[in-house]
Amino acid sequence: MWVEFVVNAKTMEEYGVYVCKSDFKFNCAHFIAFQGYRERLHGHNYLLSVKMMGDSTLGDDGYCIDFGDIKKIVRSLCKSINEYFLCPMLSDAIVISENEEQLCLECEDGSKFSFPKKDCALLPLRHTSAEELARYFWCRIIRTIGLSVLQQRKIVSMEITVAEAPMQQAIYRSVLPSSEEELLFKEMNPPQFRPRPCSEKHEDS
Ligand code: ZN
Repeated sequence: MWVEFVVNAKTMEEYGVYVCKSDFKFNCAHFIAFQGYRERLHGHNYLLSVKMMGDSTLGDDGYCIDFGDIKKIVRSLCKSINEYFLCPMLSDAIVISENEEQLCLECEDGSKFSFPKKDCALLPLRHTSAEELARYFWCRIIRTIGLSVLQQRKIVSMEITVAEAPMQQAIYRSVLPSSEEELLFKEMNPPQFRPRPCSEKHEDS
């Protein structure tokens, strides 16, 4: 008995890669602050992972994308902020000023911090939450590998996880930007935030 398989363009096949190495890590100090709330200064041993999804085809080399290319870039990005204080330069709850040597942060509750600038990673974020860090790395990885390279490799979407403790991680996932302009827009604009009900409580993590 003959069975006919209908193959159409909308096959359900997809290839992808997932990379999470023990040295995809960065150890940093930070605190979360938003209107009406500030965490104490503390630190995490962060761990990052990358998942890239392509389409139903592979390159001539048999790869979706070379693991080695991802590993090299992620290690370099982790190293660039390892053992720094993560400063959310777009915060609306911290007044940030700087002189030649020091970065000064003044919070709503009157707390003041002063850090040597060379010990700070100045990030284009409103909060240094694991979620916003995941989005930051998503943009940085595309920028560093190159959008055109990823498009040539038929990468469709990418997912980043940032774990700040074992079994406690945030995820950012999105389809790739369709153009350099779209990537730039994403880099320059912080995430969208939803209104928070007044009764919502926050506990230290
Ligand atoms: Zn924290």
